[in-house]
Amino acid sequence: ASDAAELLERREASLAEVQEHYYAAPPRIERGWREHLLDVDGRAYVDMVNNVTPLGHGHVGVASAVNAQLRRLNTNSRFHYGAVVEYAERLAALAPDGLDTVFLVNSGSEATDLAIRIALAATGRRDVVAILEAYHGWTYASDAVSTSIADNPDALTTRPDWVHGVDAPNPFRGVHRGADAARYAPEAAARIMALAAQGRPPAAFIAETFFGNAGGIPLPDGYLAGVYTAVRATGGLAIADEVQAGFGRLGHWFWGFEQQHVVPDIIAVAKAAGNGYPLGAVITTREIAAAFRSQGYFFSSTGGSPASSAAGLAVLDAFRDERLQENALRVGTRLKSRLEELATRHPLIGAVHGLGLYLGVEFVRDRGNLEPATAETAAICDRLLELGVIMQPTGDHLNVLKTKPPLCLDDESADFFVAMLDRVLTEGW
Ligand code: PMP
Repeated sequence: ASDAAELLERREASLAEVQEHYYAAPPRIERGWREHLLDVDGRAYVDMVNNVTPLGHGHVGVASAVNAQLRRLNTNSRFHYGAVVEYAERLAALAPDGLDTVFLVNSGSEATDLAIRIALAATGRRDVVAILEAYHGWTYASDAVSTSIADNPDALTTRPDWVHGVDAPNPFRGVHRGADAARYAPEAAARIMALAAQGRPPAAFIAETFFGNAGGIPLPDGYLAGVYTAVRATGGLAIADEVQAGFGRLGHWFWGFEQQHVVPDIIAVAKAAGNGYPLGAVITTREIAAAFRSQGYFFSSTGGSPASSAAGLAVLDAFRDERLQENALRVGTRLKSRLEELATRHPLIGAVHGLGLYLGVEFVRDRGNLEPATAETAAICDRLLELGVIMQPTGDHLNVLKTKPPLCLDDESADFFVAMLDRVLTEGW
């Protein structure tokens, strides 16, 4: 433990303060395999929060592919080599027909930022509509459309004027609590039409295809269809941020937009794509990509490098061979029903949101007025850590346990998490 404390002091002295660790006294993690992590003192944890490694920690297929590629050749993406072509072909093959053109980058922020820039160039416009409380990244454009209050309390007042927020389609809390979910899309559509009427039709509507940042809330039926129709009617484009929802996390669907029965114009992916090795992508149509070429510049030294392409290919192989999506559906469905059972016994659980292995356990002090149990959520997380579960509060009130473990999570680990949560809620924290 002293080892971890000493390292934390050095971390705080060497990294910028904003990169603070979530836990006040985090364990020093040394190794990971599948959904398990091991700290320097030999304590094991179940990682219930890490959606960067859907295949699991220490995946041999990805590690060997990257290692072999790094030994053979790694270079910038302007060179001509096989891995990037093969990766682009296989990634595009997973996207809907017509979305056949790929840009390769290194992260989710780069992917959403590039998606926005492509939309601006393709439409010759400057305005973008985004969902309030969303998170899309930290680079200039991706941060501008990220209006999560939890990430930056000042965010709503410092938005650039080209960003227009529409209310979060959250049926559980907020301005629309309890409202007929059917009205969210028309409201967002009206906002888009109003912008067009003011002579500022948006270049794009960008949204996660699942309301992740608020704690794993599926978008209401027909939401994206309604908003996509409106933005397209004004000549704008639909951008799907699949950084979290994509790659099978929702169980039934490989892409989050499939759950909404829509096809976007531009898809942004990252995280899962490299199983932790930096890799992101934008997938769009040849026509939209060509419009960007005429007005924008794109070159990424390491985006789509031989090594990152090798990682991406190994990830796609694992998705094919290891039935991860099927596991997300089966274990996720079972986990959700067990968490719902906990909710019948523990009134602090206000709701269990989500699909597949993208769940949100929302804690409230009062199920009537939904007062967020923020301090309790932090204390529960700290206690879960002591019991061997890595978790993290999320949502604008930091009162949701966003449950998005590696997709290889097995029943035993899922049950362990439920048992430990039951214990904390029963014994106190
Ligand atoms: N979009 C979404 C929905 C995300 O959750 C994230 C990361 N949490 C990003 C974009 C940014 O990805 P990255 O951290 O890889 O830059």
